[in-house]
Amino acid sequence: FLTGKTALITGSTSGIGLAYAKALAAEGAHIVINGFGDADAIETERKGLEATSGARALYSGHDLTKVDQIEAMMAEAATAFGGVDILINNAGVQHVAPVDEFPVDKWDLIIALNLTSAFHTTRLALPHMKEKKWGRLIQTASAHSLVASPFKSAYVTAKHGLAGFTKTVALETATFGITANCISPGYVWTPLVEKQIPDTMKARNMTKEQVMNDVLLAGQPTKQFVTAEQVAAMALFLCRDEAAQMTGANLSVDGGWTAQ
Ligand code: NAD
Repeated sequence: FLTGKTALITGSTSGIGLAYAKALAAEGAHIVINGFGDADAIETERKGLEATSGARALYSGHDLTKVDQIEAMMAEAATAFGGVDILINNAGVQHVAPVDEFPVDKWDLIIALNLTSAFHTTRLALPHMKEKKWGRLIQTASAHSLVASPFKSAYVTAKHGLAGFTKTVALETATFGITANCISPGYVWTPLVEKQIPDTMKARNMTKEQVMNDVLLAGQPTKQFVTAEQVAAMALFLCRDEAAQMTGANLSVDGGWTAQ
């Protein structure tokens, strides 16, 4: 049902972003993937997306902490496909440290990537969506856009900001056939989660098993990790006409975490 549409997904060389790309490609959309990683592995994924969709897939490897690179990525998408119909702001990183020891460069990086990049991609995508009178803006926020955890000050700040930004954009675009929503996963088993285990072990003086069971899944009543495919299924629904009246929402996919 997405044939002829173009979806750009930031941070889609891995994890949840790649799952979005695969789900949207399966519905026939042109795809722009973005993110870092091994060039051969990315090319294999890109070709796989084209094989799945029967449409085109473009890789744009720009660093989204830099405004000029975001502008270059959006220009590449416009040149290739005329514009972006579905924008998923998903690129994000984490750093775990007490606030009084939080490295200033990590704070700046997380705010730039997890929050500010979404402002830039959105402002650049909107004119095309408004002209087409159709658009889908989707953010991968987080349970941390609704509640906090210790030692994640920059991430929690960025994700709460992203939720507020999304509500504002939803109001501004409400009469243009455009929706803007957050998807807020709990813990999804991806490289982002795997990478924060050593720092959490250090910050809390715990073993790996303790971090997984007593920290990560402690707040998730189902005691299971969310899968990237389950998150992608929500994004796919938001792209459907049936979701045209869903806007400004923050949709939890978190095993019951934020019900507590
Ligand atoms: P991941 O580490 O697997 O993927 C992150 C992606 O972002 C990768 O493609 C990476 O190359 C890209 N990226 C990193 N720095 C970048 C930069 N400067 N410019 C462009 N791309 C960059 O992580 P993930 O778990 O799939 O996370 C994706 C999103 O989901 C993030 O926004 C994260 O905060 C959010 N999220 C994850 C979880 C979880 O438990 N994994 C839970 C809630 C929300």
